Amino acid sequence: MINLDTSVSDISPIAKKLASRLKKMGVETVRDLIEYYPFRYDDFSQIKDIKDLAIGDIITIKGRVDLIKNRRSSVKRTNITEAIITDGLSSIKVLWFNQPFIIKTIKVGDEIYLSGKVDADYKTLQMVSPEYEKVKNDTSNTARIIPIYPLTQGVTSKQIRYLIKLVLPLVNIVDDWIPEYILKDLNLLGIKSSLAEIHFPSDNNTLNRAQLRLKFNELFLIQLQKQAVKNKIKNSRAQAVNFNEVAVKDFVKKLPFILTDDQRKSAWSILNDLQRGYPMNRLLEGDVGSGKTVVAAIAMLNVALNKMQSAYMAPTEILAKQQFASLKKLFKGFNITIGLLTRTEQKISSVDAKISKKDFFNKIANGEIDIVIGTHALIQNSVIFDNLVFAIIDEQHRFGVEQRKALIEKSGNRNTNPHFLSMTATPIPRTLHLALYGDLDLSIIRQMPKDRKKIITKVVEPIFRDEAYKFIFKQIEEGRQIFVVCPLIDESDKLGVRSVNEEYKKLNEIIFPDIKIGLLHGKLKSEEKESTMQDFLDNKIKILVSTSVIEVGVDIPNATVMMIEGADRFGLAQLHQFRGRVGRSNFQSYCFLFSDSFSENSRTRLEALVDCSDGFTLAEKDLEFRGHGNVYGRAQSGESDLKIATLYDYNIIELANKEAIKLINNDPEFKKFPELKLKVKEIEEKIHLE
Ligand code: ADP
Ligand code: MG
Repeated sequence: MINLDTSVSDISPIAKKLASRLKKMGVETVRDLIEYYPFRYDDFSQIKDIKDLAIGDIITIKGRVDLIKNRRSSVKRTNITEAIITDGLSSIKVLWFNQPFIIKTIKVGDEIYLSGKVDADYKTLQMVSPEYEKVKNDTSNTARIIPIYPLTQGVTSKQIRYLIKLVLPLVNIVDDWIPEYILKDLNLLGIKSSLAEIHFPSDNNTLNRAQLRLKFNELFLIQLQKQAVKNKIKNSRAQAVNFNEVAVKDFVKKLPFILTDDQRKSAWSILNDLQRGYPMNRLLEGDVGSGKTVVAAIAMLNVALNKMQSAYMAPTEILAKQQFASLKKLFKGFNITIGLLTRTEQKISSVDAKISKKDFFNKIANGEIDIVIGTHALIQNSVIFDNLVFAIIDEQHRFGVEQRKALIEKSGNRNTNPHFLSMTATPIPRTLHLALYGDLDLSIIRQMPKDRKKIITKVVEPIFRDEAYKFIFKQIEEGRQIFVVCPLIDESDKLGVRSVNEEYKKLNEIIFPDIKIGLLHGKLKSEEKESTMQDFLDNKIKILVSTSVIEVGVDIPNATVMMIEGADRFGLAQLHQFRGRVGRSNFQSYCFLFSDSFSENSRTRLEALVDCSDGFTLAEKDLEFRGHGNVYGRAQSGESDLKIATLYDYNIIELANKEAIKLINNDPEFKKFPELKLKVKEIEEKIHLE
């Protein structure tokens, strides 16, 4: 008996023959086939008489085959199948190219449907390569809205339609795990009809309802999982941290700058979260240079004043060191001990002398160190805290789920979890937030500190390249430093896209032979990367040629030019991140966007950067220009689990979010909905594997 788990090769000889190709498409079982959704449709539901046809019509005709034959075209070596189809008194000529086998299925005298577009050879109407099918009641390829599937080489939509039709009766054994009250409240189409309609829609309206239903299924599960996590956190314990108002306010007052409103609000929310008896789970989002560090510092200060510990994990050694230095400066005058821990060193702020690993770990374990800044080295086993109450991860997308978990689990032995703050400089459009981070509370720093100079941004035509180099030379003469970013590491065979290796060679040997130039890319060992970065920071290197690895928050105040090769290959949000590497001092800074192949579209896109210095706006523009899949990695977004919904189905995500909250509030343990509990567990496991 065929069921949903039956292998596709067992359902028909054709499927058997195609099995390895279907597997490539992710189709191995009957269930996979049923869930192999079309990515678009052709609406051939309108049937017209031949006499009423006009050029450009996308329609179906129904007629008799009066003639059908193959011939060789003399021009190119192609086979042409020609046919004459007649209905009533009118006829039309039909052509197919390189499908000689058609004459084996369609014979003179057959009644057939043809679906496609009507065009003309001079003034005579004809159809070229239409879909064809013998007249019958239940068509798959013509005379209706027909599904178009994503395909692999060697598989046709026609074959997929045939196979799906074969297994479609099995939708009757698919169970509907969405609670009935939700189906009713939202007036959702049943799962069985939805699956049938998604492949072979009766009409556009029903198709829309089927799409809505199937998207809801996917998004509801994700939202449910996020709400379950949120609920679990709410029900776990954290140590409440008193708000030491006087000291914190005094600290803020003595800062060398005035906090922006957004910084104030973010700090306030975090301090509020810290006062609760369950863990904070918050994301602090703010453009590069928006001042996230000081917000985190305010919170860490408050924690330290309560004699509790904080940990701050950064993705690279250089960042960790920079944060250590910043915090040391910020907390001067306070009796707070800060530790720095990386793979290669450990030190504490209170003494300049070296400290052994053993002593350092001891000081963390007995609570002498209030704040530990570090890299991944923080989560090694030998790091044991006395009382870790607050954990921060900077550039959170650079860490995996397991690493975040490892840090949280360091809380010390008190049956509590630390408060957890993620930080990111990646601007996420509002519409994506719920989809990506529905389980997190959110603080956004949108305003930049007031006195920031605008970075002068220019899209540079190839003929002005030499002038740009002259400009760069002058900047270096004035003591400044330069970034050059390229899209690739090695030379590419395609279109001469620039690579770091080639650019490095060119700049080093031809353009600036007397200037010290450094090279940075992802294939270098992390020690090599760090030491090059350190040399750049120490102004030993004047020009740093790099791939996108420099994206993450390093502060090189002396760098004033960001020159980006192959700029059209990067997204706007990413270009904006590159640009954020300069403009971190009082020197006027510049960003030059180069490309050897500006298309109209890419030029318009890049011009957006010239006038706009808001990362959020740019991220939203990116979406408009490039569509989703290209902007946020599929795995990062969780989109890899989505078969039909996208992160841009914002209304449905919102709906799913509301229903998920309602359900979890009423029944946090899924007592009434055991099937749902299983489903949520399934995706939870998947997320952990990523
Ligand atoms: P990011 O959000 O990229 O981590 P940082 O926290 O490193 O940014 O801040 C960038 C710089 O801006 C730092 O030198 C910091 O001292 C400074 N800064 C932070 N807040 C303000 C402010 N409100 N006004 C002026 N300068 C600020
Ligand atoms: Mg930062």
